[in-house]
Amino acid sequence: MNVVPIPCLTDNYAYWLPERRVIIDPSEAAAVLDRLDGASLDAVWCTHHHWDHVGGVVELAARFPGLKVYGSGRRPIEGLTHHLAEGDELDGVRIMAVPGHTLDALAFYDPDGDVFVGDTMFAMGCGRLFEGDAAMMFASLARLAALPPTTRVWFGHDYAEKNLAFTRSIVRTDRQALPPPATMGLEVLTNLFLRAADVDLAATLGTVPGVATFAALRRRRDHF
Ligand SMILES: [Zn+2]
Repeated sequence: MNVVPIPCLTDNYAYWLPERRVIIDPSEAAAVLDRLDGASLDAVWCTHHHWDHVGGVVELAARFPGLKVYGSGRRPIEGLTHHLAEGDELDGVRIMAVPGHTLDALAFYDPDGDVFVGDTMFAMGCGRLFEGDAAMMFASLARLAALPPTTRVWFGHDYAEKNLAFTRSIVRTDRQALPPPATMGLEVLTNLFLRAADVDLAATLGTVPGVATFAALRRRRDHF
């Protein structure tokens, strides 16, 4: 699918899907309207309720009457019109419930090769555990990591520089800090948060593989 990243605020990304006339995660309306440049908008897809992902929804809804606004509904989003849950489909795009960062976190997976992960995953990183716990996020990330390795991954923020520095504080890596998309295959190899089941990584952190290693990584990253 044709995906146009729209940088918003300081380090957020909204995404414009021109063939579907969909915007994902409009944190602000101005940057989105600039990029649309007169094109019409049919729908907004919200990965989760945080203001820096949905802050532009109300203004866009005023600008485009009848705008469909999709999200989980497990947390309030002003202007939401359609609720989505695990297993739903939107024109061939599959909805995955991926709680951990928030309880309403969704990923939008297009089997043709794209996934929009919001703040569940970043390049070399993952979101903070604001509403869920480590076991919940570990399970959500494992589901994303199981997607085909060629899948392009579109993140909600650009934290690549800091996540690269964090990764280098623990292991050697040849990875570079590049803007989205990454591929899931690259993340599985180089994103420490997806490698929490790795015996050597667990030994490096002095813990046991699995959720405990994931939790240790997340704590370290919170204070990095
Ligand atoms: Zn968030």
